[in-house]
Amino acid sequence: MTHYPIAIIGAGLGGLMLARVLHVNSFEAAVFDLDASPTARTQGGMLDIHVESGQAALRAAGLYDEFRDLVMPGGEATRVLDKHATVRLAADEDDRDDDRPEVHRRSLRDLLLGSLPEGTVRWGAKVVGATRLADGRHEVTLADGNSFTTDLLIGADGAWSKVRPLVSAAKPLYAGLSFVELSLEDADRRHPRAAELVGGGMMFALGDSKGMLGHRNPDGSLHVYAALLTDEGWSTSGEIDFADTDKAKAALVEHFADWHEDFHGIITEADGALVPRPIHALPVGHQWDRIPGVTLLGDAAHLMSPFAGEGANLALQDGAELALAIVANPARPEDALTQYEAALFPRSTTAANQSAQGLALCFNPQSPQGLLDFFAEMSER
Ligand SMILES: Cc1cc2nc3c(=O)[nH]c(=O)nc-3n(C[C@H](O)[C@H](O)[C@H](O)COP(=O)(O)OP(=O)(O)OC[C@H]3O[C@@H](n4cnc5c(N)ncnc54)[C@H](O)[C@@H]3O)c2cc1C
Repeated sequence: MTHYPIAIIGAGLGGLMLARVLHVNSFEAAVFDLDASPTARTQGGMLDIHVESGQAALRAAGLYDEFRDLVMPGGEATRVLDKHATVRLAADEDDRDDDRPEVHRRSLRDLLLGSLPEGTVRWGAKVVGATRLADGRHEVTLADGNSFTTDLLIGADGAWSKVRPLVSAAKPLYAGLSFVELSLEDADRRHPRAAELVGGGMMFALGDSKGMLGHRNPDGSLHVYAALLTDEGWSTSGEIDFADTDKAKAALVEHFADWHEDFHGIITEADGALVPRPIHALPVGHQWDRIPGVTLLGDAAHLMSPFAGEGANLALQDGAELALAIVANPARPEDALTQYEAALFPRSTTAANQSAQGLALCFNPQSPQGLLDFFAEMSER
Protein backbone atom coordinates (compact mmCIF):
# COMPACT_ATOMS: atom_id res chain seq x y z
CA MET A 1 0.00 0.00 0.00
CA THR A 2 1.32 3.48 -0.83
CA HIS A 3 2.55 5.44 2.18
CA TYR A 4 2.76 9.23 2.49
CA PRO A 5 4.47 10.85 5.47
CA ILE A 6 2.03 13.80 5.30
CA ALA A 7 -1.39 13.53 3.61
CA ILE A 8 -3.69 16.53 3.28
CA ILE A 9 -7.31 15.83 2.37
CA GLY A 10 -8.77 18.81 0.48
CA ALA A 11 -7.25 21.28 -1.98
CA GLY A 12 -9.22 24.29 -0.76
CA LEU A 13 -7.47 27.43 0.45
CA GLY A 14 -6.50 25.86 3.78
CA GLY A 15 -5.09 22.60 2.45
CA LEU A 16 -3.16 24.35 -0.33
CA MET A 17 -1.71 26.92 2.09
CA LEU A 18 -0.54 24.08 4.35
CA ALA A 19 1.11 22.30 1.41
CA ARG A 20 2.73 25.53 0.20
CA VAL A 21 4.25 26.59 3.55
CA LEU A 22 5.52 23.04 4.06
CA HIS A 23 7.01 23.14 0.56
CA VAL A 24 8.88 26.42 1.06
CA ASN A 25 10.38 24.82 4.17
CA SER A 26 11.44 21.69 2.23
CA PHE A 27 8.68 19.41 3.57
CA GLU A 28 6.59 17.70 0.90
CA ALA A 29 2.97 16.61 1.36
CA ALA A 30 0.47 14.78 -0.83
CA VAL A 31 -2.87 16.57 -1.33
CA PHE A 32 -6.05 14.68 -2.30
CA ASP A 33 -9.17 16.34 -3.68
CA LEU A 34 -12.45 14.90 -4.90
CA ASP A 35 -12.76 17.39 -7.76
CA ALA A 36 -11.78 15.94 -11.13
CA SER A 37 -9.57 18.94 -11.90
CA PRO A 38 -8.74 22.42 -10.57
CA THR A 39 -11.43 23.90 -12.83
CA ALA A 40 -14.16 21.34 -12.09
CA ARG A 41 -16.08 23.73 -9.87
CA THR A 42 -16.75 27.48 -9.91
CA GLN A 43 -14.93 29.12 -7.02
CA GLY A 44 -17.44 31.57 -5.55
CA GLY A 45 -16.74 35.27 -5.39
CA MET A 46 -14.68 37.86 -3.60
CA LEU A 47 -12.85 37.42 -0.29
CA ASP A 48 -11.44 40.21 1.83
CA ILE A 49 -8.08 39.11 3.15
CA HIS A 50 -7.22 40.26 6.66
CA VAL A 51 -3.80 41.46 7.81
CA GLU A 52 -3.46 39.29 10.91
CA SER A 53 -4.68 36.02 9.35
CA GLY A 54 -4.92 35.65 5.56
CA GLN A 55 -2.20 38.18 4.74
CA ALA A 56 0.13 36.80 7.43
CA ALA A 57 -0.30 33.35 5.92
CA LEU A 58 0.48 34.65 2.43
CA ARG A 59 3.66 36.21 3.79
CA ALA A 60 4.66 32.88 5.37
CA ALA A 61 4.02 31.27 1.98
CA GLY A 62 6.28 33.78 0.21
CA LEU A 63 3.32 34.84 -1.94
CA TYR A 64 2.42 38.23 -0.52
CA ASP A 65 3.61 40.33 -3.47
CA GLU A 66 1.90 38.05 -5.99
CA PHE A 67 -1.30 38.28 -3.91
CA ARG A 68 -1.13 42.10 -3.95
CA ASP A 69 -1.08 41.97 -7.76
CA LEU A 70 -4.42 40.12 -7.67
CA VAL A 71 -6.24 42.63 -5.46
CA MET A 72 -9.29 44.25 -7.06
CA PRO A 73 -8.93 48.05 -6.96
CA GLY A 74 -11.88 49.62 -5.16
CA GLY A 75 -13.19 46.25 -4.04
CA GLU A 76 -13.34 47.35 -0.40
CA ALA A 77 -16.15 49.84 -1.13
CA THR A 78 -19.19 49.03 1.00
CA ARG A 79 -22.83 50.05 0.66
CA VAL A 80 -25.68 49.39 3.05
CA LEU A 81 -29.20 49.76 1.65
CA ASP A 82 -32.63 49.27 3.11
CA LYS A 83 -35.46 47.45 1.39
CA HIS A 84 -36.63 50.71 -0.24
CA ALA A 85 -33.30 50.85 -2.10
CA THR A 86 -32.29 53.88 -0.06
CA VAL A 87 -28.53 53.97 0.38
CA ARG A 88 -27.97 54.24 4.15
CA LEU A 89 -24.18 53.98 4.05
CA ALA A 90 -21.73 54.36 1.18
CA ALA A 91 -18.07 53.99 2.09
CA ASP A 92 -15.41 53.75 -0.56
CA GLU A 93 -12.10 52.08 0.17
CA ASP A 94 -10.49 55.37 1.20
CA ASP A 95 -13.01 55.70 4.04
CA ARG A 96 -11.81 52.46 5.60
CA ASP A 97 -8.63 52.58 7.57
CA ASP A 98 -8.38 48.82 7.90
CA ASP A 99 -6.45 46.92 5.26
CA ARG A 100 -8.75 44.24 3.89
CA PRO A 101 -8.13 44.04 0.16
CA GLU A 102 -10.57 42.07 -1.95
CA VAL A 103 -9.40 39.24 -4.14
CA HIS A 104 -11.33 36.71 -6.19
CA ARG A 105 -11.30 33.25 -4.63
CA ARG A 106 -10.32 31.60 -7.91
CA SER A 107 -7.30 33.90 -8.34
CA LEU A 108 -6.12 33.13 -4.82
CA ARG A 109 -6.59 29.40 -5.26
CA ASP A 110 -4.79 29.49 -8.61
CA LEU A 111 -1.91 31.38 -6.99
CA LEU A 112 -1.54 28.67 -4.34
CA LEU A 113 -1.94 25.83 -6.83
CA GLY A 114 0.65 27.32 -9.17
CA SER A 115 3.13 27.63 -6.30
CA LEU A 116 3.21 23.89 -5.64
CA PRO A 117 5.32 21.31 -7.44
CA GLU A 118 3.53 19.58 -10.32
CA GLY A 119 1.60 16.55 -9.11
CA THR A 120 1.28 17.63 -5.47
CA VAL A 121 -2.52 17.56 -5.77
CA ARG A 122 -4.11 14.25 -6.70
CA TRP A 123 -7.37 15.24 -8.44
CA GLY A 124 -10.38 12.93 -8.61
CA ALA A 125 -9.36 11.43 -5.26
CA LYS A 126 -12.48 11.34 -3.13
CA VAL A 127 -11.87 10.17 0.42
CA VAL A 128 -14.67 8.00 1.74
CA GLY A 129 -13.21 7.05 5.10
CA ALA A 130 -10.17 6.87 7.32
CA THR A 131 -9.23 4.55 10.18
CA ARG A 132 -6.50 4.47 12.80
CA LEU A 133 -4.09 1.53 12.56
CA ALA A 134 -2.59 -0.25 15.54
CA ASP A 135 0.84 1.27 14.82
CA GLY A 136 -0.57 4.82 15.11
CA ARG A 137 -0.63 5.55 11.37
CA HIS A 138 -3.89 6.15 9.51
CA GLU A 139 -5.30 4.32 6.52
CA VAL A 140 -7.33 6.42 4.11
CA THR A 141 -9.79 4.88 1.64
CA LEU A 142 -10.71 6.49 -1.66
CA ALA A 143 -13.95 6.13 -3.61
CA ASP A 144 -12.12 4.30 -6.42
CA GLY A 145 -11.26 1.52 -3.97
CA ASN A 146 -7.61 2.49 -3.54
CA SER A 147 -6.20 3.24 -0.12
CA PHE A 148 -3.00 4.59 1.37
CA THR A 149 -1.38 5.02 4.76
CA THR A 150 0.03 8.16 6.31
CA ASP A 151 1.93 9.23 9.44
CA LEU A 152 0.21 12.59 9.57
CA LEU A 153 -3.35 13.00 8.30
CA ILE A 154 -4.81 16.47 7.94
CA GLY A 155 -8.49 16.98 7.25
CA ALA A 156 -8.75 20.15 5.15
CA ASP A 157 -11.84 18.76 3.45
CA GLY A 158 -14.36 21.41 4.34
CA ALA A 159 -17.82 21.39 5.88
CA TRP A 160 -18.60 17.70 5.43
CA SER A 161 -15.15 16.42 6.34
CA LYS A 162 -14.55 12.68 6.15
CA VAL A 163 -11.57 13.06 8.48
CA ARG A 164 -13.46 14.87 11.25
CA PRO A 165 -15.09 11.69 12.68
CA LEU A 166 -11.60 10.50 13.70
CA VAL A 167 -11.40 13.31 16.26
CA SER A 168 -14.94 14.53 16.90
CA ALA A 169 -18.58 13.46 16.73
CA ALA A 170 -19.70 17.03 15.93
CA LYS A 171 -21.72 17.65 12.77
CA PRO A 172 -22.60 20.92 11.04
CA LEU A 173 -26.02 22.25 12.03
CA TYR A 174 -28.30 24.35 9.85
CA ALA A 175 -27.84 28.02 10.80
CA GLY A 176 -31.47 28.95 10.06
CA LEU A 177 -30.55 30.86 6.90
CA SER A 178 -30.54 29.92 3.23
CA PHE A 179 -28.90 31.78 0.38
CA VAL A 180 -29.96 31.69 -3.24
CA GLU A 181 -26.97 32.48 -5.41
CA LEU A 182 -27.50 34.81 -8.39
CA SER A 183 -25.01 35.88 -11.07
CA LEU A 184 -25.31 38.87 -13.39
CA GLU A 185 -22.75 39.06 -16.18
CA ASP A 186 -21.32 42.23 -17.73
CA ALA A 187 -23.34 44.19 -15.24
CA ASP A 188 -22.60 47.81 -16.17
CA ARG A 189 -23.78 47.21 -19.73
CA ARG A 190 -26.46 44.52 -19.32
CA HIS A 191 -27.75 45.16 -15.79
CA PRO A 192 -27.03 48.83 -15.07
CA ARG A 193 -29.47 49.31 -12.20
CA ALA A 194 -28.23 46.19 -10.41
CA ALA A 195 -24.66 47.40 -10.97
CA GLU A 196 -25.57 50.76 -9.49
CA LEU A 197 -27.15 49.15 -6.43
CA VAL A 198 -24.12 46.96 -5.72
CA GLY A 199 -21.58 49.71 -6.45
CA GLY A 200 -17.86 49.06 -6.84
CA GLY A 201 -17.44 46.58 -3.99
CA MET A 202 -19.93 45.01 -1.58
CA MET A 203 -23.64 45.64 -1.05
CA PHE A 204 -25.65 44.72 2.04
CA ALA A 205 -29.35 45.28 1.35
CA LEU A 206 -31.27 44.31 4.47
CA GLY A 207 -34.82 44.50 5.78
CA ASP A 208 -37.57 42.39 7.37
CA SER A 209 -35.06 39.71 8.43
CA LYS A 210 -34.13 39.19 4.75
CA GLY A 211 -31.30 40.34 2.62
CA MET A 212 -29.53 40.70 -0.67
CA LEU A 213 -25.78 40.50 -0.25
CA GLY A 214 -23.81 41.32 -3.36
CA HIS A 215 -20.38 42.09 -4.64
CA ARG A 216 -18.75 43.07 -7.88
CA ASN A 217 -16.21 40.71 -9.42
CA PRO A 218 -13.08 41.88 -11.26
CA ASP A 219 -14.60 40.75 -14.59
CA GLY A 220 -17.53 43.16 -14.16
CA SER A 221 -20.06 40.52 -13.16
CA LEU A 222 -22.13 40.69 -9.99
CA HIS A 223 -22.53 37.92 -7.48
CA VAL A 224 -25.59 38.31 -5.26
CA TYR A 225 -26.98 36.10 -2.51
CA ALA A 226 -30.68 36.48 -1.76
CA ALA A 227 -30.85 35.48 1.91
CA LEU A 228 -33.89 34.21 3.80
CA LEU A 229 -34.52 32.84 7.27
CA THR A 230 -36.15 29.52 6.38
CA ASP A 231 -36.60 25.95 7.55
CA GLU A 232 -33.74 23.57 6.96
CA GLY A 233 -35.44 21.65 4.15
CA TRP A 234 -36.73 24.77 2.39
CA SER A 235 -34.50 24.57 -0.68
CA THR A 236 -35.61 21.02 -1.45
CA SER A 237 -39.18 21.33 -0.17
CA GLY A 238 -40.55 22.05 -3.65
CA GLU A 239 -41.77 25.52 -2.67
CA ILE A 240 -39.35 26.80 -5.27
CA ASP A 241 -38.61 24.60 -8.27
CA PHE A 242 -34.95 25.43 -8.80
CA ALA A 243 -34.85 23.19 -11.89
CA ASP A 244 -37.16 25.67 -13.67
CA THR A 245 -35.25 28.96 -13.56
CA ASP A 246 -38.09 31.23 -14.71
CA LYS A 247 -40.52 29.79 -12.15
CA ALA A 248 -37.82 29.90 -9.47
CA LYS A 249 -37.19 33.59 -10.18
CA ALA A 250 -40.90 34.40 -9.93
CA ALA A 251 -41.22 32.45 -6.67
CA LEU A 252 -38.15 34.12 -5.18
CA VAL A 253 -39.43 37.58 -6.10
CA GLU A 254 -42.52 36.78 -4.01
CA HIS A 255 -40.27 36.57 -0.93
CA PHE A 256 -39.20 40.15 -1.63
CA ALA A 257 -42.67 41.36 -2.72
CA ASP A 258 -42.63 44.48 -0.56
CA TRP A 259 -39.03 45.36 -1.40
CA HIS A 260 -38.24 48.04 -3.99
CA GLU A 261 -38.78 46.73 -7.52
CA ASP A 262 -35.13 47.35 -8.40
CA PHE A 263 -34.25 44.40 -6.16
CA HIS A 264 -36.73 42.28 -8.10
CA GLY A 265 -34.67 43.14 -11.17
CA ILE A 266 -31.60 41.58 -9.58
CA ILE A 267 -33.52 38.32 -9.40
CA THR A 268 -35.36 38.43 -12.73
CA GLU A 269 -32.30 39.56 -14.70
CA ALA A 270 -29.95 36.94 -13.19
CA ASP A 271 -27.99 34.93 -15.76
CA GLY A 272 -28.04 31.16 -15.52
CA ALA A 273 -29.58 28.97 -12.85
CA LEU A 274 -30.45 30.03 -9.32
CA VAL A 275 -28.43 27.98 -6.84
CA PRO A 276 -29.78 27.39 -3.32
CA ARG A 277 -27.14 27.29 -0.56
CA PRO A 278 -28.35 26.41 2.95
CA ILE A 279 -25.90 27.78 5.53
CA HIS A 280 -24.52 25.42 8.16
CA ALA A 281 -22.14 25.86 11.09
CA LEU A 282 -20.35 23.63 13.56
CA PRO A 283 -21.23 24.31 17.20
CA VAL A 284 -19.43 27.42 18.50
CA GLY A 285 -16.39 26.31 20.47
CA HIS A 286 -15.97 23.04 18.56
CA GLN A 287 -12.76 21.31 19.66
CA TRP A 288 -11.44 17.83 20.32
CA ASP A 289 -8.98 15.92 22.47
CA ARG A 290 -5.56 15.36 20.95
CA ILE A 291 -5.64 12.22 18.80
CA PRO A 292 -2.19 11.10 17.61
CA GLY A 293 -1.38 11.56 13.95
CA VAL A 294 -4.45 13.49 12.83
CA THR A 295 -5.86 17.00 12.94
CA LEU A 296 -8.24 19.34 11.09
CA LEU A 297 -8.06 22.82 9.64
CA GLY A 298 -10.37 25.37 8.03
CA ASP A 299 -14.05 24.59 7.67
CA ALA A 300 -13.45 20.96 8.67
CA ALA A 301 -12.42 22.30 12.10
CA HIS A 302 -14.67 25.34 12.51
CA LEU A 303 -17.33 25.76 9.82
CA MET A 304 -19.22 28.98 10.51
CA SER A 305 -21.75 31.17 8.71
CA PRO A 306 -20.02 33.81 6.55
CA PHE A 307 -21.01 36.78 8.72
CA ALA A 308 -17.63 37.41 10.29
CA GLY A 309 -15.88 37.23 6.91
CA GLU A 310 -13.29 35.01 8.58
CA GLY A 311 -13.74 31.49 7.18
CA ALA A 312 -11.27 31.71 4.31
CA ASN A 313 -8.90 33.86 6.35
CA LEU A 314 -8.87 31.32 9.16
CA ALA A 315 -8.36 28.45 6.72
CA LEU A 316 -5.29 30.24 5.33
CA GLN A 317 -3.99 31.02 8.82
CA ASP A 318 -4.60 27.46 10.04
CA GLY A 319 -2.72 26.05 7.06
CA ALA A 320 0.29 28.34 7.54
CA GLU A 321 0.45 27.91 11.31
CA LEU A 322 0.13 24.14 11.16
CA ALA A 323 2.91 23.99 8.57
CA LEU A 324 5.18 26.18 10.68
CA ALA A 325 4.50 24.03 13.76
CA ILE A 326 5.41 20.87 11.80
CA VAL A 327 8.56 22.53 10.50
CA ALA A 328 9.55 23.63 14.00
CA ASN A 329 9.08 20.13 15.44
CA PRO A 330 10.36 17.77 12.73
CA ALA A 331 10.97 14.87 15.10
CA ARG A 332 7.98 15.51 17.36
CA PRO A 333 4.81 15.75 15.27
CA GLU A 334 2.59 15.43 18.34
CA ASP A 335 4.17 18.55 19.81
CA ALA A 336 3.46 20.31 16.52
CA LEU A 337 -0.22 19.32 16.60
CA THR A 338 -0.58 20.25 20.28
CA GLN A 339 0.98 23.66 19.64
CA TYR A 340 -1.20 24.23 16.55
CA GLU A 341 -4.47 23.23 18.25
CA ALA A 342 -3.71 25.34 21.35
CA ALA A 343 -3.93 28.46 19.15
CA LEU A 344 -6.59 27.11 16.77
CA PHE A 345 -9.33 26.49 19.33
CA PRO A 346 -9.54 29.93 20.97
CA ARG A 347 -9.24 31.89 17.71
CA SER A 348 -11.89 29.83 15.94
CA THR A 349 -14.23 30.12 18.93
CA THR A 350 -13.89 33.91 18.85
CA ALA A 351 -14.60 34.03 15.12
CA ALA A 352 -17.53 31.60 15.37
CA ASN A 353 -19.08 33.80 18.05
CA GLN A 354 -18.62 36.89 15.87
CA SER A 355 -20.13 35.03 12.97
CA ALA A 356 -23.24 33.98 14.91
CA GLN A 357 -23.61 37.55 16.21
CA GLY A 358 -23.15 38.93 12.69
CA LEU A 359 -25.96 36.74 11.39
CA ALA A 360 -28.29 37.95 14.16
CA LEU A 361 -27.24 41.56 13.51
CA CYS A 362 -28.13 41.38 9.82
CA PHE A 363 -31.32 39.32 9.96
CA ASN A 364 -33.82 40.86 12.35
CA PRO A 365 -36.95 42.98 11.93
CA GLN A 366 -34.98 46.23 12.56
CA SER A 367 -32.31 45.55 9.93
CA PRO A 368 -30.30 47.27 8.54
CA GLN A 369 -30.03 49.40 11.71
CA GLY A 370 -27.87 46.88 13.57
CA LEU A 371 -25.32 46.77 10.75
CA LEU A 372 -25.29 50.57 10.45
CA ASP A 373 -24.64 50.84 14.20
CA PHE A 374 -21.88 48.26 13.88
CA PHE A 375 -20.12 50.17 11.08
CA ALA A 376 -20.51 53.45 13.01
CA GLU A 377 -18.91 51.85 16.07
CA MET A 378 -16.07 50.44 13.93
CA SER A 379 -15.30 53.83 12.40
CA GLU A 380 -15.17 55.47 15.87
CA ARG A 381 -12.52 53.00 17.06
C1 LIG B 1 -21.65 32.00 0.68
C2 LIG B 1 -20.33 32.04 1.38
C3 LIG B 1 -19.60 33.24 1.42
C4 LIG B 1 -18.38 33.27 2.08
N1 LIG B 1 -17.70 34.45 2.13
C5 LIG B 1 -16.53 34.52 2.79
C6 LIG B 1 -15.81 35.74 2.89
O1 LIG B 1 -16.22 36.78 2.35
N2 LIG B 1 -14.64 35.76 3.57
C7 LIG B 1 -14.14 34.63 4.18
O2 LIG B 1 -13.06 34.69 4.80
N3 LIG B 1 -14.80 33.45 4.10
C8 LIG B 1 -15.98 33.37 3.44
N4 LIG B 1 -16.65 32.20 3.37
C9 LIG B 1 -16.10 31.02 4.04
C10 LIG B 1 -15.02 30.35 3.20
O3 LIG B 1 -15.53 30.10 1.90
C11 LIG B 1 -14.58 29.02 3.82
O4 LIG B 1 -14.41 29.19 5.21
C12 LIG B 1 -13.28 28.54 3.22
O5 LIG B 1 -13.44 28.28 1.84
C13 LIG B 1 -12.81 27.28 3.91
O6 LIG B 1 -11.66 26.78 3.25
P1 LIG B 1 -11.24 25.27 3.46
O7 LIG B 1 -9.97 25.11 2.72
O8 LIG B 1 -11.28 24.92 4.90
O9 LIG B 1 -12.41 24.42 2.81
P2 LIG B 1 -12.99 24.40 1.34
O10 LIG B 1 -12.74 25.66 0.62
O11 LIG B 1 -14.40 23.94 1.47
O12 LIG B 1 -12.14 23.27 0.60
C14 LIG B 1 -12.33 21.92 0.92
C15 LIG B 1 -11.76 21.08 -0.22
O13 LIG B 1 -11.88 19.71 0.16
C16 LIG B 1 -12.36 18.97 -0.93
N5 LIG B 1 -13.07 17.81 -0.38
C17 LIG B 1 -14.23 17.82 0.33
N6 LIG B 1 -14.57 16.57 0.68
C18 LIG B 1 -13.60 15.75 0.20
C19 LIG B 1 -13.40 14.35 0.22
N7 LIG B 1 -14.26 13.55 0.83
N8 LIG B 1 -12.30 13.86 -0.39
C20 LIG B 1 -11.40 14.67 -1.01
N9 LIG B 1 -11.55 16.01 -1.08
C21 LIG B 1 -12.64 16.54 -0.47
C22 LIG B 1 -13.25 19.92 -1.71
O14 LIG B 1 -13.36 19.53 -3.06
C23 LIG B 1 -12.51 21.25 -1.53
O15 LIG B 1 -11.61 21.49 -2.58
C24 LIG B 1 -17.87 32.11 2.71
C25 LIG B 1 -18.59 30.92 2.66
C26 LIG B 1 -19.82 30.89 2.01
C27 LIG B 1 -20.61 29.59 2.01
